[in-house]
Amino acid sequence: MKVKNELITCEICDAQTSLDDALFDEQAEVYFCDNGCFEDWADDNFHDIVEQYREMHVYAG
Ligand SMILES: [Zn+2]
Repeated sequence: MKVKNELITCEICDAQTSLDDALFDEQAEVYFCDNGCFEDWADDNFHDIVEQYREMHVYAG
């Protein structure tokens, strides 16, 4: 059960955000305060994300 009003720290901008408002990346296990910070993080981790996408979704014909 979730604790109400728990604060998390955004991986990108270090902002404190309530858990209810935050985004959680279950793969990288990091929190983001909003979609913009997630996109910044995705830019920084572009290679890993492409690799993971490829492993999960791309098959040789
Ligand atoms: Zn942020």
